[in-house]
Amino acid sequence: MAHACCGECAAAILEPLRALAPFALYFHNPNIQPLREFRRRAKSVQVLADAERLDLLVDLDYDPKRFLDAVPWDRPDRCLACYRLRLAETARLAAARGFEAMTTTLLVSLHQDHEAVRRIGTQEAEAHGLRFHYEDWRPLADRGHQEAKRRNLYRQQYCGCLFSEQERFGLTREHLYRGEGGGEIIHREESP
Ligand code: SF4
Repeated sequence: MAHACCGECAAAILEPLRALAPFALYFHNPNIQPLREFRRRAKSVQVLADAERLDLLVDLDYDPKRFLDAVPWDRPDRCLACYRLRLAETARLAAARGFEAMTTTLLVSLHQDHEAVRRIGTQEAEAHGLRFHYEDWRPLADRGHQEAKRRNLYRQQYCGCLFSEQERFGLTREHLYRGEGGGEIIHREESP
């Protein structure tokens, strides 16, 4: 079973996954906020799975409280708990469904802590009697971009949680209203 974080990363590794063994994708990402972003990413995996006739399991329960309870979101190491939250559930389901091994599309990402994904994935797989299939799929990340464009899959602009969105855009002026009128927007702290 392959945990899928998004359509783009799943598209990147379809060939190597197919070469390994019959597999199912599993979308389980309670870290993704807010709701519409969560649904866009789930849909991108569904579109890919439909087009490629892949077995797919999707956890569509949007439950941000689950993420906030399980992940120390105010600590710099929050991502480790986030990986564990997702990979532990993947391992549990994979074992329950009779799979012998699991992996994750997080191994494609250039933005994740690759070694931590490998370590936590291995720990969670072994805790459920499974083998963790590790490969360094980062060289395929660009293929994922190209495939996502070609297939018109949704491509996210931040990792997943609201904190990562703030880190991505908080210091930019992107998405701020820039009207055509002459008035200047005054930041609240600069107001008299
Ligand atoms: S930045 Fe990404 S990996 Fe880290 S906690 Fe947020 S959603 Fe999870």
